[in-house]
Amino acid sequence: MTSEPRQIRLVMELRAEGVTDAAVLGAIERTPREEFVPPQFRDRAYENTALPIGEGQTISQPLIVGLMTQALQLGPRMKVLEIGTGCGYQAAVLSKLCRRVYSIERHKSLLGETNKRLARLGYHNITAIAGDGMKGWPEQAPFDRIIVTAAASREVPQTFIDQLAPGGILVLPLGTSTSDQHVWRVRKDEEGSVTREKLWAVRFVPLIGGMPESNGRGQANGAG
Ligand code: SAH
Repeated sequence: MTSEPRQIRLVMELRAEGVTDAAVLGAIERTPREEFVPPQFRDRAYENTALPIGEGQTISQPLIVGLMTQALQLGPRMKVLEIGTGCGYQAAVLSKLCRRVYSIERHKSLLGETNKRLARLGYHNITAIAGDGMKGWPEQAPFDRIIVTAAASREVPQTFIDQLAPGGILVLPLGTSTSDQHVWRVRKDEEGSVTREKLWAVRFVPLIGGMPESNGRGQANGAG
Protein backbone atom coordinates (compact mmCIF):
# COMPACT_ATOMS: atom_id res chain seq x y z
CA MET A 1 0.00 0.00 0.00
CA THR A 2 1.49 3.38 -0.96
CA SER A 3 1.02 6.13 1.59
CA GLU A 4 -0.80 9.28 0.64
CA PRO A 5 0.82 12.68 1.35
CA ARG A 6 -1.64 13.35 4.20
CA GLN A 7 -0.73 9.97 5.72
CA ILE A 8 2.99 10.79 5.57
CA ARG A 9 2.27 14.22 7.07
CA LEU A 10 0.48 12.59 10.00
CA VAL A 11 3.39 10.21 10.63
CA MET A 12 5.83 13.14 10.62
CA GLU A 13 3.64 14.98 13.10
CA LEU A 14 3.54 11.95 15.40
CA ARG A 15 7.32 11.65 15.24
CA ALA A 16 7.70 15.32 16.18
CA GLU A 17 5.36 14.74 19.14
CA GLY A 18 7.30 11.82 20.58
CA VAL A 19 6.48 8.63 18.66
CA THR A 20 10.06 7.79 17.78
CA ASP A 21 9.88 4.00 17.38
CA ALA A 22 10.29 3.35 13.64
CA ALA A 23 8.29 0.09 13.77
CA VAL A 24 5.34 1.86 15.41
CA LEU A 25 5.47 4.72 12.89
CA GLY A 26 5.64 2.16 10.07
CA ALA A 27 2.60 0.29 11.41
CA ILE A 28 0.62 3.54 11.59
CA GLU A 29 1.70 4.51 8.09
CA ARG A 30 0.49 1.14 6.78
CA THR A 31 -2.92 1.32 8.50
CA PRO A 32 -5.58 3.02 6.34
CA ARG A 33 -7.36 5.11 9.02
CA GLU A 34 -9.94 6.29 6.48
CA GLU A 35 -11.34 2.74 6.46
CA PHE A 36 -12.00 2.91 10.21
CA VAL A 37 -13.96 6.16 10.43
CA PRO A 38 -17.59 6.77 9.38
CA PRO A 39 -17.95 7.91 5.71
CA GLN A 40 -18.73 11.52 6.69
CA PHE A 41 -15.34 11.80 8.44
CA ARG A 42 -13.18 10.20 5.75
CA ASP A 43 -11.72 13.51 4.65
CA ARG A 44 -10.55 14.08 8.23
CA ALA A 45 -9.12 10.58 8.73
CA TYR A 46 -5.49 11.74 8.78
CA GLU A 47 -5.99 14.66 11.12
CA ASN A 48 -4.37 14.09 14.50
CA THR A 49 -7.71 14.04 16.30
CA ALA A 50 -10.25 11.67 17.83
CA LEU A 51 -13.47 11.27 15.77
CA PRO A 52 -16.94 9.88 16.60
CA ILE A 53 -17.59 6.25 15.58
CA GLY A 54 -21.17 5.84 16.88
CA GLU A 55 -22.65 4.69 20.21
CA GLY A 56 -21.11 7.81 21.80
CA GLN A 57 -17.63 6.31 21.31
CA THR A 58 -14.56 7.60 19.48
CA ILE A 59 -11.64 6.39 17.39
CA SER A 60 -8.61 7.42 19.42
CA GLN A 61 -6.36 10.29 18.42
CA PRO A 62 -3.46 8.94 16.28
CA LEU A 63 -0.87 10.46 18.64
CA ILE A 64 -2.35 8.54 21.57
CA VAL A 65 -2.46 5.32 19.52
CA GLY A 66 1.21 5.86 18.65
CA LEU A 67 2.35 6.70 22.17
CA MET A 68 0.41 3.86 23.82
CA THR A 69 1.61 1.34 21.22
CA GLN A 70 5.19 2.52 21.74
CA ALA A 71 4.80 2.29 25.54
CA LEU A 72 3.84 -1.40 25.16
CA GLN A 73 7.30 -2.32 23.78
CA LEU A 74 5.86 -5.02 21.54
CA GLY A 75 7.70 -7.94 20.04
CA PRO A 76 6.71 -10.07 17.03
CA ARG A 77 5.94 -13.21 19.06
CA MET A 78 3.69 -11.55 21.61
CA LYS A 79 0.06 -12.24 22.43
CA VAL A 80 -1.78 -9.00 23.18
CA LEU A 81 -5.13 -8.24 24.82
CA GLU A 82 -6.95 -5.01 23.98
CA ILE A 83 -9.95 -3.79 25.97
CA GLY A 84 -12.26 -1.52 23.93
CA THR A 85 -12.09 -2.60 20.26
CA GLY A 86 -14.25 0.29 19.03
CA CYS A 87 -13.69 0.59 15.27
CA GLY A 88 -10.62 -1.68 15.40
CA TYR A 89 -8.00 0.92 14.48
CA GLN A 90 -5.75 0.41 17.52
CA ALA A 91 -6.09 -3.37 17.10
CA ALA A 92 -5.05 -3.05 13.44
CA VAL A 93 -1.92 -1.09 14.38
CA LEU A 94 -1.04 -3.62 17.13
CA SER A 95 -1.58 -6.56 14.78
CA LYS A 96 1.33 -5.45 12.60
CA LEU A 97 3.73 -5.56 15.57
CA CYS A 98 2.81 -8.76 17.42
CA ARG A 99 1.71 -12.35 16.83
CA ARG A 100 -1.97 -12.10 17.76
CA VAL A 101 -4.40 -9.52 19.13
CA TYR A 102 -7.40 -10.50 21.27
CA SER A 103 -9.84 -7.63 21.65
CA ILE A 104 -13.09 -7.12 23.57
CA GLU A 105 -15.85 -4.55 22.91
CA ARG A 106 -19.00 -4.12 24.99
CA HIS A 107 -21.11 -2.58 22.14
CA LYS A 108 -22.28 -5.47 19.94
CA SER A 109 -23.27 -3.11 17.11
CA LEU A 110 -19.77 -1.59 16.92
CA LEU A 111 -18.17 -5.01 17.17
CA GLY A 112 -20.27 -6.38 14.29
CA GLU A 113 -19.18 -3.59 11.96
CA THR A 114 -15.59 -3.84 13.13
CA ASN A 115 -15.34 -7.57 12.51
CA LYS A 116 -16.67 -7.10 8.96
CA ARG A 117 -14.15 -4.31 8.40
CA LEU A 118 -11.18 -6.30 9.76
CA ALA A 119 -12.10 -9.31 7.59
CA ARG A 120 -12.51 -7.14 4.48
CA LEU A 121 -9.12 -5.49 5.08
CA GLY A 122 -7.42 -8.85 5.70
CA TYR A 123 -6.47 -8.56 9.38
CA HIS A 124 -6.32 -12.27 10.15
CA ASN A 125 -4.43 -12.16 13.44
CA ILE A 126 -7.09 -10.20 15.33
CA THR A 127 -9.84 -12.00 17.26
CA ALA A 128 -12.48 -9.56 18.53
CA ILE A 129 -15.51 -10.51 20.60
CA ALA A 130 -18.43 -8.74 22.30
CA GLY A 131 -18.20 -8.85 26.07
CA ASP A 132 -17.36 -7.05 29.28
CA GLY A 133 -13.67 -6.31 29.05
CA MET A 134 -13.52 -5.68 32.80
CA LYS A 135 -13.45 -9.47 33.11
CA GLY A 136 -10.53 -9.74 30.71
CA TRP A 137 -10.31 -12.93 28.64
CA PRO A 138 -9.48 -15.72 31.12
CA GLU A 139 -9.59 -18.51 28.51
CA GLN A 140 -6.75 -16.89 26.55
CA ALA A 141 -4.70 -15.56 29.49
CA PRO A 142 -1.91 -14.95 30.23
CA PHE A 143 -1.07 -12.11 27.82
CA ASP A 144 2.38 -10.67 27.16
CA ARG A 145 0.84 -7.23 26.80
CA ILE A 146 -2.51 -5.65 27.71
CA ILE A 147 -3.78 -2.28 26.44
CA VAL A 148 -6.97 -0.65 27.68
CA THR A 149 -8.46 2.06 25.43
CA ALA A 150 -11.12 3.36 27.83
CA ALA A 151 -10.42 4.97 31.20
CA ALA A 152 -10.81 3.00 34.42
CA SER A 153 -11.23 4.87 37.71
CA ARG A 154 -8.30 5.38 40.09
CA GLU A 155 -7.31 1.75 40.56
CA VAL A 156 -5.70 -0.63 38.10
CA PRO A 157 -8.29 -3.44 37.81
CA GLN A 158 -6.80 -6.55 39.46
CA THR A 159 -8.19 -8.74 36.63
CA PHE A 160 -5.75 -7.18 34.18
CA ILE A 161 -2.78 -7.71 36.50
CA ASP A 162 -3.87 -11.33 37.05
CA GLN A 163 -4.10 -11.96 33.29
CA LEU A 164 -0.70 -10.40 32.56
CA ALA A 165 2.19 -12.84 32.03
CA PRO A 166 5.36 -12.51 34.15
CA GLY A 167 7.54 -9.92 32.41
CA GLY A 168 4.39 -8.40 30.93
CA ILE A 169 3.36 -4.78 30.40
CA LEU A 170 -0.10 -3.23 30.82
CA VAL A 171 -0.81 0.25 29.43
CA LEU A 172 -4.03 1.96 30.48
CA PRO A 173 -5.67 5.32 31.14
CA LEU A 174 -6.76 5.90 34.74
CA GLY A 175 -8.96 8.61 36.20
CA THR A 176 -12.67 9.34 36.01
CA SER A 177 -12.73 13.05 35.33
CA THR A 178 -11.64 14.00 31.81
CA SER A 179 -9.53 16.80 33.30
CA ASP A 180 -7.50 14.40 35.40
CA GLN A 181 -6.78 11.27 33.38
CA HIS A 182 -3.35 9.84 32.75
CA VAL A 183 -1.94 6.88 30.89
CA TRP A 184 -0.04 4.53 33.19
CA ARG A 185 2.38 1.73 32.41
CA VAL A 186 2.26 -1.23 34.75
CA ARG A 187 5.01 -3.86 34.68
CA LYS A 188 4.84 -7.31 36.21
CA ASP A 189 8.28 -8.81 36.77
CA GLU A 190 9.23 -12.49 36.53
CA GLU A 191 8.47 -12.94 40.27
CA GLY A 192 5.06 -11.31 39.89
CA SER A 193 5.86 -7.97 41.59
CA VAL A 194 4.08 -5.02 40.05
CA THR A 195 5.44 -1.49 39.49
CA ARG A 196 3.70 1.43 37.80
CA GLU A 197 4.71 4.69 36.16
CA LYS A 198 2.58 7.65 35.13
CA LEU A 199 3.15 8.58 31.46
CA TRP A 200 1.01 11.49 30.17
CA ALA A 201 -2.35 13.23 30.48
CA VAL A 202 -5.15 12.01 28.16
CA ARG A 203 -8.92 12.13 27.67
CA PHE A 204 -10.62 8.80 27.04
CA VAL A 205 -14.22 7.62 27.11
CA PRO A 206 -14.89 5.69 30.35
CA LEU A 207 -14.37 1.97 30.85
CA ILE A 208 -17.84 0.71 31.82
CA GLY A 209 -18.51 -2.65 33.48
CA GLY A 210 -21.35 -4.86 32.17
CA MET A 211 -23.05 -4.82 28.78
CA PRO A 212 -25.18 -1.90 27.46
CA GLU A 213 -29.00 -2.00 27.41
CA SER A 214 -30.14 -3.21 23.98
CA ASN A 215 -31.33 0.28 23.04
CA GLY A 216 -28.72 1.94 25.22
CA ARG A 217 -26.81 4.93 23.92
CA GLY A 218 -23.31 5.57 25.22
CA GLN A 219 -22.25 8.70 26.96
CA ALA A 220 -21.09 11.95 25.46
CA ASN A 221 -18.07 11.82 23.20
CA GLY A 222 -14.73 11.84 24.88
CA ALA A 223 -11.65 12.79 22.98
CA GLY A 224 -9.88 9.51 23.79
N1 SAH B 1 -9.53 1.11 20.48
C1 SAH B 1 -10.44 2.06 19.84
C2 SAH B 1 -10.92 3.08 20.82
C3 SAH B 1 -12.36 2.93 21.08
S1 SAH B 1 -13.03 3.99 22.35
C4 SAH B 1 -9.75 2.69 18.64
O1 SAH B 1 -8.89 2.10 18.06
O2 SAH B 1 -10.07 3.77 18.25
C5 SAH B 1 -13.14 2.86 23.71
C6 SAH B 1 -14.05 1.67 23.51
O3 SAH B 1 -14.06 0.96 24.75
C7 SAH B 1 -15.49 2.01 23.18
O4 SAH B 1 -15.86 1.41 21.98
C8 SAH B 1 -16.28 1.44 24.37
O5 SAH B 1 -17.53 0.90 24.01
C9 SAH B 1 -15.34 0.35 24.87
N2 SAH B 1 -15.54 -0.09 26.25
C10 SAH B 1 -15.82 0.66 27.36
N3 SAH B 1 -15.94 -0.13 28.44
C11 SAH B 1 -15.73 -1.41 28.02
C12 SAH B 1 -15.73 -2.70 28.65
N4 SAH B 1 -15.98 -2.85 29.95
N5 SAH B 1 -15.50 -3.78 27.89
C13 SAH B 1 -15.25 -3.68 26.57
N6 SAH B 1 -15.23 -2.51 25.91
C14 SAH B 1 -15.47 -1.39 26.61
